[in-house]
Amino acid sequence: MSNSTRTIGFIGAGNMPQSILGGMIKGGYPASSIIVSNPSRPKLDMLEEKYGLFTSQDNHEIAAKADVIVLSVKPQLMRDVCEDLQKHVPDLDKKLIITIAAGLRMESYYEYFSNDIALVRVMPNTPSLVGEGVSGLVADANTTSADREFVTQVFDYVGITIWLEDEDAIDVLGAVAGSGPAYFFEFMHSLQRAAEDLGFDSEQARAMVQQTCLGAAKMASESELSLVDLRKQVTSKGGSTAKGVEVYQQAELNNISKRAVDAAVARNQEMA
Ligand code: NAP
Repeated sequence: MSNSTRTIGFIGAGNMPQSILGGMIKGGYPASSIIVSNPSRPKLDMLEEKYGLFTSQDNHEIAAKADVIVLSVKPQLMRDVCEDLQKHVPDLDKKLIITIAAGLRMESYYEYFSNDIALVRVMPNTPSLVGEGVSGLVADANTTSADREFVTQVFDYVGITIWLEDEDAIDVLGAVAGSGPAYFFEFMHSLQRAAEDLGFDSEQARAMVQQTCLGAAKMASESELSLVDLRKQVTSKGGSTAKGVEVYQQAELNNISKRAVDAAVARNQEMA
């Protein structure tokens, strides 16, 4: 099927699907090809009013009309929602199914539906909510290259996409990109506190740290240099930055990050 004509149906209208479809529309995807279901009306009314989307409180109606179904309910509801679709919606194996639920492995969906479905598992991270996400994607052998191109296009609207060969890599991506915002907030807060200890009020300290973080991320994303070379570029020999960096190096920041990621990977594996 040609990608330009695909009707994409979101099952669940929470924060993440709202961000994805908002990004798609902003990026030029036709709102007339996006449809959404949700049990309660308020989010649907808002989506109708804001974008003119077709909405329904009936999951069956949206899944039946869609070429691509995005399963966007909480993981604990997924079994009931999928088994209900399997019972009532014909030809699910002729559609592309995307799941964005955290922690549920692909084998669960073959159990809910059948082994014949074409399935892509996507792990978006929270900054997708502001259009700066990282999405890890894994496709099964029933998907076509056009399917995979379509999914790339959808998730590129809310950030960057990284295709993974193996579903286990999602646990690692989750430990770096999924948990990563929390690591950065923790580090940013520690810098904020250091500025406060030296006399800044919390508002100024936070603004200073936040903008520095944004600026550094922007410089990194616009540069061809490695992160090590970028760091060297802003560190004059014998200067104040060199003294500060030395403290982090002596505290073995690399080792701390490695331990943090290993711990998060282990927890993801336990929960899978
Ligand atoms: P959310 O904001 O809590 O929204 C969940 C939505 O599901 C609500 O609108 C709820 O409707 C709806 N819902 C409940 N039962 C349903 C049913 N039977 N059929 C259809 N819709 C139903 O959740 P979210 O943050 O968008 O998360 C959605 C999925 O994205 C989850 O699986 C989560 O693991 C995944 N995810 C989220 C993030 C994130 O940063 N938010 C990151 C990675 C992955 P009512 O309002 O009527 O109850």
